[in-house]
Amino acid sequence: MSGVLEARAVRRRYGRTLAVDGASLALEPGRITGLLGPSGCGKSTLLRCLAGLEPVDGGEVRAGERVLSAPGVHVPPESRDVGLVFQDYALFPHLTVVENVAFGLSGRPKAERRERALAQLERVRLAHRAEAWPSALSGGEQQRVALARALARDPAAILLDEPFSGLDGPLRTEVREATLSALRAAGKAALIVTHDAEDAMLTSDSLALMEAGAILQAGSPRDCFLEPTSLAAARLLGEINTLPIEGGSTAFGAATARDGVLMVRPEGLVIGGEGVPAVVEEVRFAGASAVVALQVRGIRASARVPLASAPRVGDTVRVAIDPQFARPFPTAHAGESRDPS
Ligand code: ADP
Repeated sequence: MSGVLEARAVRRRYGRTLAVDGASLALEPGRITGLLGPSGCGKSTLLRCLAGLEPVDGGEVRAGERVLSAPGVHVPPESRDVGLVFQDYALFPHLTVVENVAFGLSGRPKAERRERALAQLERVRLAHRAEAWPSALSGGEQQRVALARALARDPAAILLDEPFSGLDGPLRTEVREATLSALRAAGKAALIVTHDAEDAMLTSDSLALMEAGAILQAGSPRDCFLEPTSLAAARLLGEINTLPIEGGSTAFGAATARDGVLMVRPEGLVIGGEGVPAVVEEVRFAGASAVVALQVRGIRASARVPLASAPRVGDTVRVAIDPQFARPFPTAHAGESRDPS
């Protein structure tokens, strides 16, 4: 089944750089898809190919059966049923907030345009700022105006490029929640591009993990976190330990494979109770939890425990592996069998 907007094996090259290298991604109605990957991995380029801001050098972009992009085929952005929210919001400084949102509703009577724009502003909780100039708004408010503008034309899909990256702390959480509720209320297919693993997991119904121009894994945030299909995918969602497996066992306990490496999240090394004796080499305060560097027979690993149960440096503690946070992998690459630095 094809999605509202779909990339099939898309390739995009800039000179010698293959920015997108065979990426596939399908957006579904009413679902938010997160596209997560490190800076420079090709996320924005893929978004721009979906939006029609870039042509493709290989593969296709489709809306159902309609081919929007392919080598030699390019439907321009304004003829795609897509709304865009850019990282810098891109509001028109010489138009008021409500005029910004009404922009793009041309062809309709003026009163209707205004009414629709106000309804969208209501949705992002900014109706009271309708007559303000963009320059008078906070970053978070500008982001919400950009979202209202994108939603106003009632597109089938909304694409957001790093929508929270310019925002910090409580404001970031507030804008993230406002964005989510507006997208949910609108019931659109949405793509949120981000390099932040927590943002991606908190906002997405489906997650696509991208590295070096390709999608490594796609699935629910939970499946991607707990059942990564590669070490590279596992790393994109947070710190991991990679413990060498010898004869079905690691220094920290049994593995479910004969050899290779065992990927264990720091949350999956449980201190106290039963387990292998380990020496505490370092304890770092991380708010409600502590990050504990442990060593067993020369193998180091990092555990994350509630602050109240953090051991002290020099202690010998018992450590066990929680299998829910562990997964074996073959030793595919040189250097993978070492623990994280
Ligand atoms: P991301 O959004 O994941 O940070 P981008 O899609 O912006 O990654 O970039 C992917 C790669 O393509 C990078 O190596 C970047 O330098 C390169 N790139 C992106 N846009 C252009 C461009 N217009 N011209 C040349 N190279 C580009």
